Amino acid sequence: MERIEIEKDNLSIDRIEEKCLHCGVCLKTCQSLNNLANKDCLNCGQCLLTCPSGALIPKFTYKQVLNYLHDTNYTLVVLTSPAVRVAIGDEFGYEAGEFLEGKMVSALRNLGFDYVFDTTFGADLTVMEEAYELVEHLKQDKKPLFTSCCPSWVLYMQKYHENDLNYLSTCKSPIAMLGAMVKTYFADFNNIPQDKIITVALTPCVSKKSEMAKYRDIDFVITTRELALMIRECAIDFKALPDSLFDKMLGLGSGAGLIFASSGGVMEAALRTAYYMLNKEKAPQEFYHLTSIRGEKDFVEATIDMKIKKIKIAVVNKIINAQTNYAKLKDYDFVEVMACPGGCVGGGGQPVNTTSKQKEYREERIKTIYNIDNNKNIKESFDNPEIQDAYRSYISKNKVSLHTNHKCNSKLPM
Ligand code: SF4
Repeated sequence: MERIEIEKDNLSIDRIEEKCLHCGVCLKTCQSLNNLANKDCLNCGQCLLTCPSGALIPKFTYKQVLNYLHDTNYTLVVLTSPAVRVAIGDEFGYEAGEFLEGKMVSALRNLGFDYVFDTTFGADLTVMEEAYELVEHLKQDKKPLFTSCCPSWVLYMQKYHENDLNYLSTCKSPIAMLGAMVKTYFADFNNIPQDKIITVALTPCVSKKSEMAKYRDIDFVITTRELALMIRECAIDFKALPDSLFDKMLGLGSGAGLIFASSGGVMEAALRTAYYMLNKEKAPQEFYHLTSIRGEKDFVEATIDMKIKKIKIAVVNKIINAQTNYAKLKDYDFVEVMACPGGCVGGGGQPVNTTSKQKEYREERIKTIYNIDNNKNIKESFDNPEIQDAYRSYISKNKVSLHTNHKCNSKLPM
């Protein structure tokens, strides 16, 4: 059977040829989610989650990370994406969607990381920058603005809509922003030379492995599955670990940063802050429960009252739905697109469950994420005191690379 081509130089995905059954399930998965004319890979890694023989795996880099963890010449910093903490439990016999942030941080400390930071802080930073961009667009009656945090969506735009790249937000993704902060703000504050810091992004996403090859601020990207392998190979008893807290400075995230993990979350988070920037007052209660745009719907549109004006938004789940609706996306003020079903909670680097149960697992992860947001004291990125400190003491005075133009100077992976 025809199967999806995975080139040897693909930075996100590997195929173990001896395990491949040539059943074509990978191609069917890709066609149902992306359906690209020439079967080129967008690196989302959804085929990893349906491959019946386990022949498709993330491009593993965790062994290199383990080597650095034993090298005392370097300071090892790990940045953990929101969706990992609600999925790592699948590997160790927990209920679907269990929130295991404390044990995850503890495991990373046991593995030997010197600092454990939260990419939820990076998501808050992205919200601040992207909400500002949205506000500028609205003031100038300019549209559309497309989110840019999903690298598979950005790659789709680069390959198929090269002339529309200016619609993409210039914001780097949360991991890339946080990596830049570690190699500047954190390095300067602690007087550590940049080249002595190794940054490791722990993510649900295999696409980030390709994305981060463009940026010097992230040295390695490992997936939730790789974290589980590291824990097992180092004989750490995950269930017996006590809870541990993130390190300060880049370790505090708001509810808005946390909901980045779910489809619709980037939109909801950005609107909370954009409303505040436009009106100098907190958004009404409905901005904290935008249930109509949450979850795993293919395409949702809504009109949001931002007080100074009403805006039209769209939330799109899976590239195939962005493709089908592409012409009308330009009519919206703000559009979120995530490649994976349910958003990053369903990323290709998450633990593999039986195909029939995957939706159920994603729904449990999404439920947990929104419950935590609901119970957080800090629900907006601008209200995060570590974000306020970072802007006041560093970003406003120093050059930190938080933006990019998404233009491709080199040949794209096809
Ligand atoms: Fe990665 Fe999330 Fe995009 Fe999936 S939706 S490719 S996990 S950024």
